[in-house]
Amino acid sequence: MINYPDILHNIQLEINKVSERGQVARYIPELSKIDPHKFGMHIIDANRNEFSVGDSEEAFSIQSISKVLSLSQAIGLIGEELWTRVDVEPSGDPFNHLSLLEQENGIPRNPLINAGAIVVADILVSKLKNPKEDFLTYIQDISGDKSINFDADVAASEKETGFRNYAAANLLKSYGNLHNDVDTVLDFYFHQCSLALNCKQLTKLFFVFMNRGKCLQNNTYLTTSQVKRINALMLTCGFYDEAGEFAFEVGLPGKSGVGGGIVALLPNNYCVATWSPGLNKKGNSKLGMLALEMLTTATKQSIF
Ligand code: GLU
Repeated sequence: MINYPDILHNIQLEINKVSERGQVARYIPELSKIDPHKFGMHIIDANRNEFSVGDSEEAFSIQSISKVLSLSQAIGLIGEELWTRVDVEPSGDPFNHLSLLEQENGIPRNPLINAGAIVVADILVSKLKNPKEDFLTYIQDISGDKSINFDADVAASEKETGFRNYAAANLLKSYGNLHNDVDTVLDFYFHQCSLALNCKQLTKLFFVFMNRGKCLQNNTYLTTSQVKRINALMLTCGFYDEAGEFAFEVGLPGKSGVGGGIVALLPNNYCVATWSPGLNKKGNSKLGMLALEMLTTATKQSIF
């Protein structure tokens, strides 16, 4: 029997000793205002027991973590057809790399880099009647939490400085892999990235990927095969050019965002989220990675 309360308590003690906490993301002006001293962690296990430490109920901008959710909704809508527009290979590049350029076919390397997520956003803009509202409802339904919302200030802030995403979207458009207009797709993309959730809400949302496609309320959203694909993508592509390091040190599928959040899961076992806004040089939460490494070391459990 794993003693999660003791493990989390010890992790918090170790985290408190770290003085170098990394840098908060500055390229989205609104994110640069966040206090780097925040740290929260929450776990929900397969039996729905919950454990937490620190600032686990304070909402933060989930940013790239939202790419897993848009991918999940798009797979639910168009299934395998999605893979004709985006590949499934790790890029080994930073999140904002225009990794279309080397390929010269307009197919992004994977759906978790920005270019790939913009194609997924385009699919949702095409398929959903009221894209932003319908995506938000999807998130609220899976998590069973109607209070989850976009952060309009963060979305507006990114819109003002998102030049690389405009470049990626224009490039995709030039290759014919963006079917709607650039501004509409990016407006959707900036809103999905602005979703504000706390660690507790994130674990409830990602429970569906831990639980073979069934959400906390026991409704089925994805087939086991679709969940396998999404978890495989998180493992191989979920941490920018540090996915290898995360698999090596932590050994769980997961996804990080430049807001300092990380969510990870052990299939059929537990789902965990951490938040610490200071990022390492690769753009992943420095203390979040450390906390998750301590977790899998203490529990002696990983997918390997
Ligand atoms: N909205 C951010 C961007 O497109 C997401 C980056 C991230 O969290 O990796 O730059």
